[in-house]
Amino acid sequence: MNNLQMEEGYGLLKRGFSMANISDEQMACILDILTKKWYNSVLARIRINAFRIELAVGSYEDLLSSASACIEAEAAVGNAVYMLPSLYNHDCDPNAHIVWIDNADAQLKALCDVEEDEELRICYIDVSMDHDARQSFLLQGFGFKCNCLRCSSGD
Ligand SMILES: [Zn+2]
Repeated sequence: MNNLQMEEGYGLLKRGFSMANISDEQMACILDILTKKWYNSVLARIRINAFRIELAVGSYEDLLSSASACIEAEAAVGNAVYMLPSLYNHDCDPNAHIVWIDNADAQLKALCDVEEDEELRICYIDVSMDHDARQSFLLQGFGFKCNCLRCSSGD
Protein backbone atom coordinates (compact mmCIF):
# COMPACT_ATOMS: atom_id res chain seq x y z
CA MET A 1 0.00 0.00 0.00
CA ASN A 2 1.53 3.28 -1.07
CA ASN A 3 0.98 6.69 0.52
CA LEU A 4 -1.77 7.63 -1.93
CA GLN A 5 -3.69 4.43 -1.16
CA MET A 6 -3.18 5.04 2.53
CA GLU A 7 -4.50 8.60 2.17
CA GLU A 8 -7.52 7.31 0.26
CA GLY A 9 -8.21 4.63 2.88
CA TYR A 10 -7.92 7.15 5.66
CA GLY A 11 -10.25 9.53 3.81
CA LEU A 12 -12.81 6.76 3.25
CA LEU A 13 -12.73 5.83 6.92
CA LYS A 14 -13.25 9.45 8.01
CA ARG A 15 -16.04 9.90 5.46
CA GLY A 16 -17.72 6.73 6.73
CA PHE A 17 -17.82 8.14 10.23
CA SER A 18 -19.03 11.54 9.00
CA MET A 19 -21.95 9.83 7.23
CA ALA A 20 -22.93 7.88 10.34
CA ASN A 21 -25.80 9.11 12.45
CA ILE A 22 -23.79 10.35 15.42
CA SER A 23 -23.76 13.58 17.38
CA ASP A 24 -21.23 16.36 16.82
CA GLU A 25 -19.85 15.66 20.28
CA GLN A 26 -19.33 11.96 19.47
CA MET A 27 -17.79 12.88 16.12
CA ALA A 28 -15.35 15.25 17.85
CA CYS A 29 -14.27 12.39 20.14
CA ILE A 30 -13.85 10.05 17.17
CA LEU A 31 -11.79 12.59 15.25
CA ASP A 32 -9.51 12.99 18.28
CA ILE A 33 -8.68 9.29 18.00
CA LEU A 34 -8.96 8.85 14.24
CA THR A 35 -5.65 10.41 13.28
CA LYS A 36 -3.41 9.42 10.40
CA LYS A 37 -0.90 8.15 12.96
CA TRP A 38 -3.57 5.92 14.52
CA TYR A 39 -4.69 4.70 11.08
CA ASN A 40 -1.11 3.88 10.05
CA SER A 41 -0.50 2.02 13.31
CA VAL A 42 -3.61 -0.09 12.72
CA LEU A 43 -2.45 -0.91 9.18
CA ALA A 44 0.98 -1.87 10.52
CA ARG A 45 -0.60 -4.23 13.05
CA ILE A 46 -2.69 -5.83 10.31
CA ARG A 47 0.40 -6.23 8.13
CA ILE A 48 2.33 -7.85 10.97
CA ASN A 49 -0.41 -10.33 11.76
CA ALA A 50 -1.85 -11.14 8.33
CA PHE A 51 -0.68 -13.91 6.07
CA ARG A 52 -1.37 -13.97 2.36
CA ILE A 53 -3.43 -16.83 1.05
CA GLU A 54 -2.28 -18.15 -2.30
CA LEU A 55 -3.66 -20.69 -4.68
CA ALA A 56 -0.34 -22.45 -5.21
CA VAL A 57 1.35 -24.39 -2.44
CA GLY A 58 4.63 -22.73 -1.65
CA SER A 59 7.04 -21.94 1.10
CA TYR A 60 6.78 -19.01 3.41
CA GLU A 61 9.67 -16.81 2.33
CA ASP A 62 8.73 -13.18 1.96
CA LEU A 63 6.05 -11.96 4.29
CA LEU A 64 6.82 -8.34 3.59
CA SER A 65 5.99 -8.61 -0.08
CA SER A 66 3.06 -10.80 0.81
CA ALA A 67 1.73 -8.31 3.29
CA SER A 68 2.37 -5.20 1.25
CA ALA A 69 1.09 -6.73 -1.97
CA CYS A 70 -2.04 -8.03 -0.22
CA ILE A 71 -4.87 -8.63 -2.58
CA GLU A 72 -3.13 -6.80 -5.42
CA ALA A 73 -0.74 -9.70 -5.88
CA GLU A 74 -1.62 -11.94 -8.78
CA ALA A 75 -1.30 -15.16 -6.80
CA ALA A 76 -3.10 -13.95 -3.70
CA VAL A 77 -6.72 -14.76 -3.17
CA GLY A 78 -6.95 -13.03 0.18
CA ASN A 79 -5.37 -12.50 3.55
CA ALA A 80 -6.02 -14.16 6.84
CA VAL A 81 -5.01 -13.72 10.43
CA TYR A 82 -4.08 -17.02 12.03
CA MET A 83 -4.31 -17.01 15.80
CA LEU A 84 -1.15 -18.92 16.66
CA PRO A 85 1.12 -17.87 13.77
CA SER A 86 0.21 -14.25 14.47
CA LEU A 87 1.77 -14.57 17.91
CA TYR A 88 5.23 -15.39 16.58
CA ASN A 89 7.64 -12.51 16.75
CA HIS A 90 10.11 -11.62 14.06
CA ASP A 91 13.79 -12.44 14.05
CA CYS A 92 16.23 -11.98 11.15
CA ASP A 93 17.80 -15.28 12.19
CA PRO A 94 14.61 -17.28 12.82
CA ASN A 95 14.44 -20.66 14.47
CA ALA A 96 11.16 -21.56 12.75
CA HIS A 97 9.14 -20.76 9.68
CA ILE A 98 5.60 -21.24 8.42
CA VAL A 99 4.92 -23.93 5.85
CA TRP A 100 1.66 -23.71 3.94
CA ILE A 101 -0.20 -26.91 3.32
CA ASP A 102 -3.10 -27.26 0.93
CA ASN A 103 -3.06 -23.52 0.23
CA ALA A 104 -4.34 -22.16 3.53
CA ASP A 105 -3.34 -24.46 6.38
CA ALA A 106 -0.35 -23.15 8.29
CA GLN A 107 2.18 -25.43 9.90
CA LEU A 108 5.17 -24.31 11.92
CA LYS A 109 8.49 -25.99 11.09
CA ALA A 110 11.59 -25.69 13.28
CA LEU A 111 14.74 -24.69 11.39
CA CYS A 112 17.06 -25.92 14.13
CA ASP A 113 16.97 -27.59 17.53
CA VAL A 114 14.80 -25.53 19.87
CA GLU A 115 15.18 -25.51 23.65
CA GLU A 116 12.09 -26.19 25.74
CA ASP A 117 11.68 -22.57 26.91
CA GLU A 118 13.06 -20.93 23.77
CA GLU A 119 10.79 -18.50 21.96
CA LEU A 120 9.77 -19.58 18.47
CA ARG A 121 10.62 -16.76 16.09
CA ILE A 122 9.87 -16.44 12.39
CA CYS A 123 11.24 -14.03 9.80
CA TYR A 124 8.66 -11.66 8.32
CA ILE A 125 10.87 -10.83 5.34
CA ASP A 126 13.49 -12.39 3.08
CA VAL A 127 16.33 -13.44 5.39
CA SER A 128 18.87 -13.02 2.58
CA MET A 129 18.50 -9.23 2.51
CA ASP A 130 21.34 -7.19 3.93
CA HIS A 131 21.13 -5.32 7.25
CA ASP A 132 20.05 -1.95 5.87
CA ALA A 133 17.42 -3.44 3.55
CA ARG A 134 15.94 -5.54 6.40
CA GLN A 135 15.84 -2.55 8.73
CA SER A 136 14.18 -0.40 6.08
CA PHE A 137 11.60 -3.04 5.12
CA LEU A 138 10.71 -3.82 8.70
CA LEU A 139 10.37 -0.17 9.68
CA GLN A 140 8.35 0.86 6.64
CA GLY A 141 6.34 -2.32 6.23
CA PHE A 142 5.80 -3.43 9.79
CA GLY A 143 6.42 -0.33 11.86
CA PHE A 144 9.28 -1.50 14.05
CA LYS A 145 13.06 -1.34 14.28
CA CYS A 146 14.52 -4.81 14.53
CA ASN A 147 16.85 -5.34 17.46
CA CYS A 148 17.47 -9.06 16.99
CA LEU A 149 20.94 -10.49 17.63
CA ARG A 150 21.72 -10.55 13.90
CA CYS A 151 20.78 -6.89 13.45
CA SER A 152 22.58 -5.90 16.64
CA SER A 153 25.75 -7.50 15.32
CA GLY A 154 25.48 -5.43 12.13
CA ASP A 155 25.08 -8.51 9.92
ZN1 LIG B 1 16.83 -8.26 12.82
